[in-house]
Amino acid sequence: MINLEKYNDQPEFKAALKEMFSSLDESVLNNPRYASILDKIVEPDRILTFDIKWKDDQGNVRMNKGYRVQYNNVNGVYKGGLRFHPTVNVSILKLLGFEQIFKNYLTTLPMGGAKGGSDFDPKGKSDAEVIRFCEAFMKELYPYIGVDKDVPAGDIGVGAREIRAMYEAYKKYSGKSDCSLTGKPLDLGGSLCRTEATGFGVTYFALEALKAYKNTDLKGKKVIVSGSGNVALYCLKKVTELGGKVIAMNDSSNAIYVPNGIDFEVLRALKEDRRGRIKEYKDLVKDEVVVMNSKDIWGIKCDVAFPCATQFELDENDADKLIANGCIGVFEGANMPCTLEAAMKFINHKVIYSPGKASNAGGVAVSGLEIEQNKKGEKWSFEEVDNKLKGIMATIFRNCYNTAKDLNDEYNLIKGANNYAFIGIAEKMLKR
Ligand code: NDP
Repeated sequence: MINLEKYNDQPEFKAALKEMFSSLDESVLNNPRYASILDKIVEPDRILTFDIKWKDDQGNVRMNKGYRVQYNNVNGVYKGGLRFHPTVNVSILKLLGFEQIFKNYLTTLPMGGAKGGSDFDPKGKSDAEVIRFCEAFMKELYPYIGVDKDVPAGDIGVGAREIRAMYEAYKKYSGKSDCSLTGKPLDLGGSLCRTEATGFGVTYFALEALKAYKNTDLKGKKVIVSGSGNVALYCLKKVTELGGKVIAMNDSSNAIYVPNGIDFEVLRALKEDRRGRIKEYKDLVKDEVVVMNSKDIWGIKCDVAFPCATQFELDENDADKLIANGCIGVFEGANMPCTLEAAMKFINHKVIYSPGKASNAGGVAVSGLEIEQNKKGEKWSFEEVDNKLKGIMATIFRNCYNTAKDLNDEYNLIKGANNYAFIGIAEKMLKR
């Protein structure tokens, strides 16, 4: 058994371990064949830490911490995003890297688990400062990554601008142009549909689940999507295309409630082109827009919710409000946005609940397809990638749902995802 107390100084990581080990079936947890790999599965293969020195616009030398957690490569090359945010630390990266092992296995593509990033805050920095930081970051990281070793991608604070700067720096320092990063802009070998993949993917997962559990879909549903970054924006787009109405979204400062539904193109331009704040949406449309505190978003009545912002943004109290308001499904686009207590409330009330490692795997799945295209020297159409994404999300749902049913706990997709993926990874580790 894993001694969780050992991780008291890493609360985020401890929460991920608790989620995994409290959900494993007795037959898995007490399987004597797995006793020898339990300790190994919990700890990363290595944690790289480095100092990043970069110059601000005034010419001052500034310093940040950089990390790459290479967790487990039994299922393929290390794979997982880079996050630039002041809250980044080893505990959060271990939480995300541990989740990534099982998420990547669920995609059915050959990818191991990793995560990385820096406590650098891109907010308030000029483009030139962000680009200089990205170059300095990659100068430290490049010897440890590459298409056959470790392939990072974006995450919070790392979008097209940052990936472009890091990929250019990788080529400069390594002298190689292999697929060492995914989420690349199209002109640098990126895949169509990668930008949309996580947000579209979580919506495809939701469609499968709504049909299987409640024989319904998104048409006419009132929807909350938290966040307003990459995942949230493309979840908004796909939900709207499928007939749902997204009535509320937020950022870390404010939420907006828009009874007539949020306009994708207006919000996309505000967030992607102008890097604006969500409350500015009110000045851009004629519709009624109520600006409120960010956290109040979960008190708005909705049918379906997609938490797509950040870890632990939705707690037990929020879950109570959603349940009381008749919400029928909560699909995680972010990584571990619901606390375990909130997730268990949903499951116990037969609200469909999908853990992020299953429902947000679309991003890394299309990253896997980007590697495949780069290796083959091919460029697939948007439709082709989107169709493969749909197929992968349907497979992930089926495997999790069938496992949950086999364990006589139909609504518990935490059990479904964790038992299915844990057994898959454990068996591979035993064969090594
Ligand atoms: P972005 O940086 O593009 O967007 C993050 C969004 O969340 C921003 O709108 C940010 O607002 C908001 N946010 C951050 N903290 C809070 C908070 N406490 N309350 C409300 N809003 C908040 O990141 P992504 O969209 O890429 O990632 C979002 C989540 O999805 C993360 O958990 C990430 O790990 C996960 N994920 C992302 C994938 C991808 O392909 N991008 C793949 C799989 C998972 P603000 O601007 O105020 O900070």
